[in-house]
Amino acid sequence: MDLSEKDNVENSWAHCISRVKTGVRVKDGLGEDYLEFKAELVYLNWIRGTIFGLLSIFAFGLIMLFDLHYYQTDKWEVSIGYPILFYSHMSVFMLLSGGIGLAWMKRPEKTERPSHYHHVLITAFLWLGMLNLVAISIADVLISGSTAAYIGMAFSFAAIFIISNRFCLFLYLSNMAVMVYFVNVAADYTGKDFGIQQINIVTFTVLAVALSRVLYYAHVRDFKNRKLIKSQKQRLLELSNKDHLTNVLNRRSFAEISEVETARSRRHAGPLSLIIFDFDNFKCINDQSGHSAGDAVLVHTAELIQQNIRKTDILFRWGGEEFIILSPETALEDAAALADKLRLLIEEYTFPHGVKATASFGAAQYTHGESIEDTIQRADKALYQAKTKGRNCVEQLPA
Ligand code: GH3
Ligand code: MG
Ligand code: MG
Repeated sequence: MDLSEKDNVENSWAHCISRVKTGVRVKDGLGEDYLEFKAELVYLNWIRGTIFGLLSIFAFGLIMLFDLHYYQTDKWEVSIGYPILFYSHMSVFMLLSGGIGLAWMKRPEKTERPSHYHHVLITAFLWLGMLNLVAISIADVLISGSTAAYIGMAFSFAAIFIISNRFCLFLYLSNMAVMVYFVNVAADYTGKDFGIQQINIVTFTVLAVALSRVLYYAHVRDFKNRKLIKSQKQRLLELSNKDHLTNVLNRRSFAEISEVETARSRRHAGPLSLIIFDFDNFKCINDQSGHSAGDAVLVHTAELIQQNIRKTDILFRWGGEEFIILSPETALEDAAALADKLRLLIEEYTFPHGVKATASFGAAQYTHGESIEDTIQRADKALYQAKTKGRNCVEQLPA
């Protein structure tokens, strides 16, 4: 099995598993995103339906004024097409007004799950709308023998609304059947031959369905691409903010986060402390147990610290074997106590390959009016004092 084959097998398994897990139909290769895609379609069709509907209300209002001109005149005697046209124009006008009213009363929000209310309403609106336009088209065939209204309607729907395969087939085939049937009835009724019209109706329905499918799959591709870009953006953000060895935040993200935390501390006049720690004689660990054992010490330390600090405390890898903890709502004495707790945890921990390690700590408190770099400098000074005092201890330096 070559690699691409293996990928396909794995992907199909992934789809099956996600289907079992979520109970969601895996469609169009969208996997678990299918519901979100469907929600997007409902939202999009709702908005387009509203705009298209508003323009059509205006157009049908004018058409009905024109109809009134002929209302129950001689023309109504000449062809049954005129009364059909009049009542179906009225019906479209009422359907549009009702639809726009409902659309206005309960507008959908951009969500990740389709609302059944909106889904059912837009489906009914599209089907009834098309059926009404089919009635108008039948009247048109009766009066002028032209199928232009049907063809125009079929292509407008295909171009405006993005609908799924199943609904598309149902919408077009059911309405085409109604259209073909009534044109047949009209042929019998008038004694005219509408064979060409029927061929036109079928041919242009097939073409409109084809256009609708092309646009649907273009939208599926667009949705997938947007999803991919979003997840890659997220991944890039993570890569640029996190240290790849220990998976904790890196020095780069310290700048952004410390800015927020210092601003918060100034605003609420709450204390903010900073702890910096550096492993003792780390070179010896690398020399004696190997560089990968040294790496393992850093990875385990990051986990150990994360598990033993508050959710609001933030750990950063400052560089090499040095880390910083930003501790909001913590005064200097409490930060020193926390540092001592962590120092003891490291001292007592046995790292992979039986490696034992200690670290020295420096703590300082941010004072309003200084920059965070000043606080780091003080904590660094305290760390230096801890090193000179014999390592594996905590020093603090008040402002
Ligand atoms: P001190 O107690 O004075 O801090 O001594 P030290 O040996 O820890 O200090 P020094 O700064 O001289 O050495 C730090 C060592 O940490 C040197 C460097 O190779 C090692 N180091 C830095 N980053 C990494 C890393 O990602 N992985 C490993 N395995 N070692 C690292
Ligand atoms: Mg060191
Ligand atoms: Mg160092």
